[in-house]
Amino acid sequence: MNVSKINRVLVTGGAGFLGSHICERLVEAGHDVICLDNFFTSQKTNVAHLLGRPNFEVIRHDVTLPIFLEVDQIFHMACPAAPGHYQFNPIKTVKTSVMGSINMLGMAKRCGARILLASTSEIYGDPLIHPQPESYWGNVNTIGVRSCYDEGKRVAETLFMDYHRKNKVDIRIVRIFNTYGPRMHPYDGRVVSNFIRQAIQGEPITIFGEGEQTRSFCYRDDLVEGIFRLMNNEQNVIGPINIGNPSEFTIRELAELVVQLTGAKSSIEKRPLPPDDPTRRQPDITLAKKHLSWEPTIPLREGLQKTIDWFRTIDLDHYRPPTPNYV
Ligand code: NAD
Ligand code: UDP
Repeated sequence: MNVSKINRVLVTGGAGFLGSHICERLVEAGHDVICLDNFFTSQKTNVAHLLGRPNFEVIRHDVTLPIFLEVDQIFHMACPAAPGHYQFNPIKTVKTSVMGSINMLGMAKRCGARILLASTSEIYGDPLIHPQPESYWGNVNTIGVRSCYDEGKRVAETLFMDYHRKNKVDIRIVRIFNTYGPRMHPYDGRVVSNFIRQAIQGEPITIFGEGEQTRSFCYRDDLVEGIFRLMNNEQNVIGPINIGNPSEFTIRELAELVVQLTGAKSSIEKRPLPPDDPTRRQPDITLAKKHLSWEPTIPLREGLQKTIDWFRTIDLDHYRPPTPNYV
């Protein structure tokens, strides 16, 4: 596959937060882009600005069902990503990761396409090693409320490796750490979107537990750049490879920063900690630096400001009502 020529590219979950930015970048580069989505956690407005472009089309489809398309590259992003979304119908979440990956790997095998899996830091579970290198096998509960997502993605990684070893499918696996930015669903319950929406609406900011748990937040543009470097590298770097921002913050620090940047009068209130909530999370990005010459460039304060600016422009009434989550 020649990455410098015009490719036919499929983006599953292409209307989502990350998928829509991948579509945008591919369309701008002149590729022939198919966005496939069932709109479970997204809405068409995320890609509406691309609809008139001759090199862009949308297919409403569920990846758990077979589909036959002719493509050169597949960005396999389809999967609910926010805890409230993936726990809403956990069996469907497993089907999406497992059957969705089998269907897309089958397509990649048939077409000779390169395929990238959006895996996750969640495959490390509640990690006992810090920061987390790719060589760490993780500490995952098989029967908890997060298992549908964690184990689903772990099986997806297994499937990708087995299709690669047995069928020579040209794969890439990226382990994405918490990423934020414009076009996050305002009601997805993820911590950045939740805190910003709460601050803008003057609601209390809800910290789960003591707020001492940590996450490392990567701005969307940095993440998408890392994904493209992995997808387009010709040095046989297939991953799994961590892409994320190693700057680690407690959830309380994040809450305080959001209050400061929004100028909100919101109080910060504690809520019960959800089960199996990972205590610490920080990517070791040695491999991404070495093999992809990639590292993040946008600090949390700058990325949060851009995200807050976007949240101020949206009409919350245009988004479907909140999906039930653990609040
Ligand atoms: P998102 O919810 O905005 O996007 C997911 C998209 O997949 C949505 O458009 C949704 O409608 C679609 N989708 C879900 N199930 C589907 C199905 N069965 N068939 C077709 N489409 C389906 O979330 P996101 O943050 O953009 O995440 C995209 C991918 O990146 C996911 O695979 C997620 O697991 C992974 N990821 C994201 C993060 C992050 O911090 N954003 C971290 C780790 C991994
Ligand atoms: N969190 C919180 N308040 C919220 C939403 C989330 O304190 O309103 C915490 C959550 O318990 C977790 C962290 O923020 O420790 C990140 O949660 P998120 O749902 O964004 O993603 P996760 O990394 O847990 O998948």
